[in-house]
Amino acid sequence: MANHAISASMDAASPIVKPGFRLVPATIGRPEAPRRVWIECPTFCTVNHAADRQIAVEDVWHSGDMTSLEVPAADGNVELLALARMGLDDYSTDPAVRAPHLFVEDAGTGEGAYLDADAAEQFADNLVAFAAKVREMARACRIPKTGVTLAKVTPLHTRGGAA
Ligand SMILES: [Zn+2]
Repeated sequence: MANHAISASMDAASPIVKPGFRLVPATIGRPEAPRRVWIECPTFCTVNHAADRQIAVEDVWHSGDMTSLEVPAADGNVELLALARMGLDDYSTDPAVRAPHLFVEDAGTGEGAYLDADAAEQFADNLVAFAAKVREMARACRIPKTGVTLAKVTPLHTRGGAA
């Protein structure tokens, strides 16, 4: 069938794939006449390009799995705050998107930012600092209401006056 022909043509071509990429089958064309072609796909990509038919190769874009930042809600559920995923769009008019990047999305608005590796590292540093502050505040929330053990948390309440 078609897959056999594709394998044979790939063997004959002996393509060289750049580091960080692999060849994967993609379905390209109109619904009445789809074709299987082989495309370079970054190793982080989890899109099934064979199942995700596109009209043209230029329409193919690559995405990794989403990771999410969730806030626990009082009812036991979670509220989605932000999403992040890796991406690459070889044919984008935006040069930043034609390179592997991180896309960070505000889950509430759907607005987002494309981050290159340096910006993504900075963002990660910001998250680590944010997490440290959140943990510090979480521990401060554990202050006993009686005030009997306030001495244990004195560094967080030096200006409030001891009870
Ligand atoms: Zn891909």
